[in-house]
Amino acid sequence: MPVFGLRSFTIGRFFGIPLEVNSSWFLVFFLVAYTLSTSYLPAAMPGQPSSVHVFIALAMTAAFFASIVLHEFAHSLVARAGGLKISRITLFVFGGVSQMEDEPTGPGLEFLMAFAGPAMSLVLSAVCFGAMALMRSAHVTSTLLIPVQYLAYINLSVAVFNLLPGFPLDGGRVLRSILWALTGDMLKATRWASRMGQLLGYALIAIAVVGVLNGSLDLIWFAVMGWFLSTLAGAAYQQQLLKVRLSEVPLSAVMSSPVAFVSSDTTLEEMAHSYFLGGRHSRYPVVSEGKVIGLIELQAMRDMPRDEWASKTVGEAAHTDLAAVVATPDVTIDRVLSRLEPSGPGAVLVVEDGRLAGIVTRADVIRLVSSMDRQQ
Ligand SMILES: [Zn+2]
Repeated sequence: MPVFGLRSFTIGRFFGIPLEVNSSWFLVFFLVAYTLSTSYLPAAMPGQPSSVHVFIALAMTAAFFASIVLHEFAHSLVARAGGLKISRITLFVFGGVSQMEDEPTGPGLEFLMAFAGPAMSLVLSAVCFGAMALMRSAHVTSTLLIPVQYLAYINLSVAVFNLLPGFPLDGGRVLRSILWALTGDMLKATRWASRMGQLLGYALIAIAVVGVLNGSLDLIWFAVMGWFLSTLAGAAYQQQLLKVRLSEVPLSAVMSSPVAFVSSDTTLEEMAHSYFLGGRHSRYPVVSEGKVIGLIELQAMRDMPRDEWASKTVGEAAHTDLAAVVATPDVTIDRVLSRLEPSGPGAVLVVEDGRLAGIVTRADVIRLVSSMDRQQ
């Protein structure tokens, strides 16, 4: 997932879930390690050489982000146990995020998966406090005690901050699940929980302002988090509202029909001249003996060496993973949104009894959404 246009790198797979790091995360890793090595550790363990401070700071920063990853895995594993698909976990400048392909199906699952992350942070914090007590009674040196103490407090702060009852924070999701259970109306629950998110965001900004007026810059990060939270809360509600409206529109209502298609035995050479050069569409359904077998995209042709165009057929170059491309006319738009992402196939073929009934592209959905906005 690109964040602020910055690239992400997959660093591994745990429990079958890819863990990726966005480039923006390196900035926050550096900032945390820098603050620890130049101000926290020199104050907490004076008299040590700065190389020791740097080494311990790097270890503490790594342990802190490992805690964040465990927090996200707790969310993801509970969600997966509840039947949701997890595409990946991403570390970025504001921490971690579990990317799910679907929304929770009911308030019970939402409650459990939202609470799992802060519960993990609380457990980690409790383990560190327990270790501190043991280390103190064993008179272990402060060089070991201080990093454990830091982890105890930082995990406690992560749990407390995330449990603030404003959507889309974990606590806001917990609040939404409770409101959802009480009212039976997910959209209304999202609206109230998002308003709480916006209010909390403004409150954090106000705290930072009061801090600055009193001559302290320590609370300035409250303003950053507050701005981030209020922006996300507003966007989250709009997104939910849109999903609900799209869940009322079947593909048959927006599909283009009849559809221009190509026969699977057409050569790529012919495809380029007769279809793509005309420039009307950048993708076409591929049909063999009256049945849809895939989707051919201009990009797939560009990836194919030019000298193979005369010998290769459209059927060979087509995207044939039909499960990702095909849907029936009664399926609603919210169910196919992830397939219309720029990274996916970009279009959904509407097929009824094996026959091609129409095609829905990203552009069709964008047009529908903007007409919905105008009617608002
Ligand atoms: Zn969380």
